[in-house]
Amino acid sequence: MHIDIITLFPDLFTSVFSHSILQRSQNKGIVSVEFHDLRQYSVNKYKSVDDYAYGGGAGMVMQIEPIANCLKDLKSKRDYDEIIYTSPDGEMLSQGISNELSLMKNICILCGHYKGIDERIREHLITREISIGNYVLSGGELAAAVISDSIIRVIPGVLNDETSALTDSFQNNLVSPPVYSRPYEYNGWKVPDVLISGNQRLIDEWNIEQSLKRTKERRPELL
Ligand code: SAH
Repeated sequence: MHIDIITLFPDLFTSVFSHSILQRSQNKGIVSVEFHDLRQYSVNKYKSVDDYAYGGGAGMVMQIEPIANCLKDLKSKRDYDEIIYTSPDGEMLSQGISNELSLMKNICILCGHYKGIDERIREHLITREISIGNYVLSGGELAAAVISDSIIRVIPGVLNDETSALTDSFQNNLVSPPVYSRPYEYNGWKVPDVLISGNQRLIDEWNIEQSLKRTKERRPELL
């Protein structure tokens, strides 16, 4: 899969994509990611990409031309399955959406800033709008990183243990059961006996019971 990210702040992504699973996915050649500095597509000598809002009001608006020119350039090199705009009023990111996007070949994510982007870009050039929650961030970069991470970790071959993404929360509409590691006892707090019983059938049953119990308690809307 290839992900192009259009942003005013490419450096914000450097660390996120050069550690852990996101880095491994690129080293393995399963994912490639490129960051495109929107300022390079500015149409004036000041390298600005924003202007005052028509109708007045506080806050600047990201203009059409730099974004349209950047998209034109990228589209001449790749066919995109989706051109995503990160937006607080977009469809709410879910595991289902991440699973769906993880099957795609090329996606592009546009990060907004200031008051947002000129509406005409959303109407004519964007194919999908995604929100990461009902709150407002200063820019789309953190949202793009969240979206990319949740997509990349479910691409087959990215995680070492193939089953581990499938046993995470929200796959099968359940949250994950509790997990434990050594030592067996700390401060008098013990690991549930079933997990050291060696009986895989009982352990599997216990995990399912715990998943159901937790989902009922914490995320009843999933059931
Ligand atoms: N004026 C806009 C908010 C702009 S915030 C409004 O009230 O809806 C600046 C940028 O941050 C947005 O253009 C968007 O790209 C990004 N952003 C902010 N909150 C977000 C969220 N919850 N999910 C995804 N992107 C978000």
